[in-house]
Amino acid sequence: MRDVVIVGAGFSGTMAAAELTRRGLSATIVEGGGRIGRGTAYSTTEAAHLLNVPAAKMSAWRDAPGDFVAAGHAPDAFAERRQFGAYLGRILDQAVAAGAVDIAPNRALSARREGEGWAVTLDDGRLIEAAALVLAQGNQPPAPMAVAAGIPLERFVNDPWRSGDAVKQVASSGGDALILGTGLTMVDMVLSLDAAGHGGRIVALSRRGQMPRAHAAYEPVVVEIEEVPLGNVLALWRWLRRRSRAGSWRAAVDALRPHSHAIWRSFDVGEQQRFLRHARPWWDVHRHRIAPRVAERLGALIGAGRLEVVAGRVRRIEQAGDELAVEIERRGAGKREGNQFAVVFNCTGPLGNMAQTRDPLLRQMIDDGLVAIHRLGMGIEVDAASRAGPGVWALGPLTKGVLWEIVAVPDIRGQVADVADDIAKELKS
Ligand SMILES: Cc1cc2nc3c(=O)[nH]c(=O)nc-3n(C[C@H](O)[C@H](O)[C@H](O)COP(=O)(O)OP(=O)(O)OC[C@H]3O[C@@H](n4cnc5c(N)ncnc54)[C@H](O)[C@@H]3O)c2cc1C
Repeated sequence: MRDVVIVGAGFSGTMAAAELTRRGLSATIVEGGGRIGRGTAYSTTEAAHLLNVPAAKMSAWRDAPGDFVAAGHAPDAFAERRQFGAYLGRILDQAVAAGAVDIAPNRALSARREGEGWAVTLDDGRLIEAAALVLAQGNQPPAPMAVAAGIPLERFVNDPWRSGDAVKQVASSGGDALILGTGLTMVDMVLSLDAAGHGGRIVALSRRGQMPRAHAAYEPVVVEIEEVPLGNVLALWRWLRRRSRAGSWRAAVDALRPHSHAIWRSFDVGEQQRFLRHARPWWDVHRHRIAPRVAERLGALIGAGRLEVVAGRVRRIEQAGDELAVEIERRGAGKREGNQFAVVFNCTGPLGNMAQTRDPLLRQMIDDGLVAIHRLGMGIEVDAASRAGPGVWALGPLTKGVLWEIVAVPDIRGQVADVADDIAKELKS
């Protein structure tokens, strides 16, 4: 029997296994999506997909901040994401070679308490027993969109991380592509289409038509938590605007980064909802920036008329022969316009409400009261030590309701190290 069973082998699960190994604990890591040691973000094979964080900040280890740079990347470079995947894969290989970690290439279907520990059932019928359970399952795939009901999945690609041959097919047919969403996932999709030689038109559409901003050099500033208004979204917003006007908005946004968990926790539910409704669209595009090279490429595609970014909504999608007839209402236009597209990609983001999860393990654990849905539906409830219940911890985007900024490597690596400490303390006491 291993000490810990970890579900999910993306960044969170892989680093949990590696950190536990360092503390003398053993783990079985269960990965059902074929992305062992890579996860959703780093399993891309596309060279054009770059990290959106400079190498200097991308070490997988909290206590070795220069580790990714030491692996051969210039500190200020935005490396290819597949290179980060290879780096993460090597860390997992080392943990496996040391004999402390084994991998089950399976989907975890259910978990039940057995004494003080856990028994996890896999999709091949095996049972994995361990003293502790770590849930590292990342974001949930998007829910089906009502507007696309009845449209075949090869024409309406609902999960951009499982797009099959859709990119290749539209690139070879030369048809136009509609991308719903204008955030980081849209950026990935445009780069994939571009790299595949797609020559048609791409329309990227979201309510506000806001795209991620680009990284650029700025003079960083240090802000103490006492200087930041807590508990009130409007006050925080005014503070951000004042600081942005006084210097650089990048410096103002990034200065909040060390305090993001404290700021989020200082909001009551109403303020958190206010932030998500009004501030999030601005926050996302300014906080999660893209590599300058990526921004230049997008700018070139827009300049050449191949990419159009539209603020508006899709009102109707219908199959029309080999294509899709799509009615779009541009923001403020008050009337619909008809368009034809060969394919539509849903890049609006992962599932927003955990109550709708179709993951069998999470579904069963929620239904059996072993973990609880976060009050805003964003992932599951955890305490300050990332415990979701007795003997079960959660990592990464699964904990975003409680921590909010827990999607990027610099945030998750700290959480992973803390959880490994907590598990070691519990299992060794
Ligand atoms: C496209 C993209 C680009 C990003 N770029 C950057 C970047 O440049 N810099 C940065 O700091 N951050 C970046 N991030 C954010 C961040 O690094 C990731 O969100 C982070 O890696 C999350 O890792 P995770 O392991 O928690 O989740 P995931 O990577 O999603 O891994 C979860 C894994 O769990 C598996 N799983 C789920 N359910 C089950 C089950 N029931 N049984 C078995 N297995 C299961 C899935 O198959 C999956 O492989 C990016 C994110 C994305 C999506």
